[in-house]
Amino acid sequence: MSKQLHENIVLYDKKFAPFIPYSEIKERVAALANRMRKEYEGNNNLVFLVVLNGAFMFAAELLGELDVNGVVSFIKLSSYRGNSTTGVVDDVLGLDCNIEGRTVVIIEDIVDTGITMQHLLDSLKKKHPARVDIATMFFKPESFRGNYEVKFVAMELPKEFIVGFGLDYDGLGRNYKDIYKLVNERG
Ligand code: 5GP
Ligand code: MG
Repeated sequence: MSKQLHENIVLYDKKFAPFIPYSEIKERVAALANRMRKEYEGNNNLVFLVVLNGAFMFAAELLGELDVNGVVSFIKLSSYRGNSTTGVVDDVLGLDCNIEGRTVVIIEDIVDTGITMQHLLDSLKKKHPARVDIATMFFKPESFRGNYEVKFVAMELPKEFIVGFGLDYDGLGRNYKDIYKLVNERG
């Protein structure tokens, strides 16, 4: 039997409490897919760039609902260690399709400060896409410091550290389909 949402989970030394059930995630993603379908229907030059590892569940759910033609490609970049941003951003790895002149839709798990996404946008622009849009499962408006548009957001979050639905704490927690939030040790 799978874990019930009312139970806490423990990852290493940290406790995480139930926060957002998968049923709500599914609804939010379906609503976002409806908005995105209107935007991209009839666009014959679409490339979906899924940012691994975190976006794998969101991408599967979103692309399954979207029903438009597009190439799906997977890239990797990482700037996050544990639960705080290091500010160190690795290169974009694994981009194996030509994006020149095409509409690129980045599929990301979460935009927090926006620094990681800024780096990705900068590298992609060097390859001359016609346009780059961002679709993210989660967005933290209070943390965001970017000056670009985060066009498609499935759900806004307060400043909490979450795991589940693809999001990890040092490699653990990604496989839970519900979202859990870090329980502050100080209460
Ligand atoms: P940013 O550069 O926007 O501050 O951070 C983006 C990256 O930080 C995300 O791609 C993700 O890997 C990580 N991140 C930010 N907030 C969270 C969170 O609440 N939970 C987890 N697991 N990762 C987060
Ligand atoms: Mg990510």
